[in-house]
Amino acid sequence: MRPAPTHDAIVIGAGPAGTSVALALARRGWAVAIVEKSVFPRRKVCGEYMSASNLVLLDRLDIGDAWRSQAGPEIRRVALFSSDTNTEAPMPGARPGPTAGDGFGRALGRDILDTLLLDAARSAGAEVFQPCRAVAIERDGDCQAVRVEAIGGKSRDEATILRAPVIVAAHGSWEPGPLPSQLEKKGRPSDLLGFKAHFTGSSLPPDLMPLLTFPGGYGGMVLADNGRMSISCCIRRDVLTRLRGDLASGRGGHVSAAEVVEHHIVATCRGAREALEQARPDGPWLAAGPIRPGIRSGYKDDIFRVGNVAGESHPIIAEGISMALQSGWLLALELGTAAGGQAEREAVGRRYEAAWAELFSTRVRAAEAIARIALGPGGAALMEAVVRSFPRTLTLGALLSGKTRAVPGFG
Ligand SMILES: Cc1cc2nc3c(=O)[nH]c(=O)nc-3n(C[C@H](O)[C@H](O)[C@H](O)COP(=O)(O)OP(=O)(O)OC[C@H]3O[C@@H](n4cnc5c(N)ncnc54)[C@H](O)[C@@H]3O)c2cc1C
Repeated sequence: MRPAPTHDAIVIGAGPAGTSVALALARRGWAVAIVEKSVFPRRKVCGEYMSASNLVLLDRLDIGDAWRSQAGPEIRRVALFSSDTNTEAPMPGARPGPTAGDGFGRALGRDILDTLLLDAARSAGAEVFQPCRAVAIERDGDCQAVRVEAIGGKSRDEATILRAPVIVAAHGSWEPGPLPSQLEKKGRPSDLLGFKAHFTGSSLPPDLMPLLTFPGGYGGMVLADNGRMSISCCIRRDVLTRLRGDLASGRGGHVSAAEVVEHHIVATCRGAREALEQARPDGPWLAAGPIRPGIRSGYKDDIFRVGNVAGESHPIIAEGISMALQSGWLLALELGTAAGGQAEREAVGRRYEAAWAELFSTRVRAAEAIARIALGPGGAALMEAVVRSFPRTLTLGALLSGKTRAVPGFG
């Protein structure tokens, strides 16, 4: 006889995508397991800006008030810092939510945001396995069995096997691994590697979020919680390798990738240099990637996929957290109240993929187009010239990236 399911759903990964689907399902009475490999709170490569359109969803996930009281200032202006040019324009406001001032996005550190979300999912009844890594998914009748290894456990024999009819991959897209939902990792010169750091004492105006362009990459800066300024960027692997060689030979010794990135941004982008002049690092630079922008499947191999696993926009539009939260919510809406058999899961998968495409494909494509221009030969100079003549193109870019679009189910 086959062992009974341990849960109705197993969610792998406790980023915003995993916690939003887990919380929504647990609220409906599902027995949900969340498997997360890192100990929280943990910092993450991310710019940490989130559009205000998500606030209604954060309220429904029970963390709206905590987000309002802890996030950084409202971002009312968007800018381009490129070479010696700094140009700014108004940020479009979302339809205000229930609380005054809900019309503009703000930034909250991922160490804080992800912990709030996971605590809320736990309070809703989800069982959390942490720090534990999901290392295999195998079919087991109408269920699938997920092998979960405790990190720091003494031996592989200590693995726990969880079984459920619904498996949700929410493990992000930047790390390779043995799961069928994890992406293959092949190093290519054009790969974009992600970097991020916090600084305090920055002179960046509190209501301004600049897009940074520099040779071989792009990035962003924003004031987040507790006076921390979050700077994050992507840089081509081949450019980073070349710059690292140049800097190491100039300094006569080893230099870290993070040192190279900071040196490069400061040397080539006046706005970033000025914002960082008096600033002090708050913790080390973090690295991740390569990033994998693109639209993938929402359901394949009988595994539902949310957040970056389902699809990822270039971070140039700072919409990944929104897409993660909203795709988790969308999947929970489609899954409804019953797990059903595989045929029913397939039907849910098709509906979820269609809803995902309708909600997110424009912003993924808009981000791809903007990133192509920023990274292409002469692209940053072209962008600078257009934005200088028509600053409102920055506002239009923010609109195209979905910053004001309503979350499904909230009108
Ligand atoms: C440079 C940069 C800047 C960015 N800036 C912004 C921004 O300002 N605003 C914005 O909205 N988005 C931004 N993004 C994008 C955003 O960070 C991601 O889109 C978002 O984190 C995706 O959320 P997720 O829940 O899908 O995955 P993640 O946040 O990556 O979470 C996945 C979780 O799964 C866990 N995990 C992985 N594998 C396993 C396993 N096998 N077992 C158990 N657990 C596992 C991980 O530890 C992690 O906690 C940026 C990205 C980059 C690279």
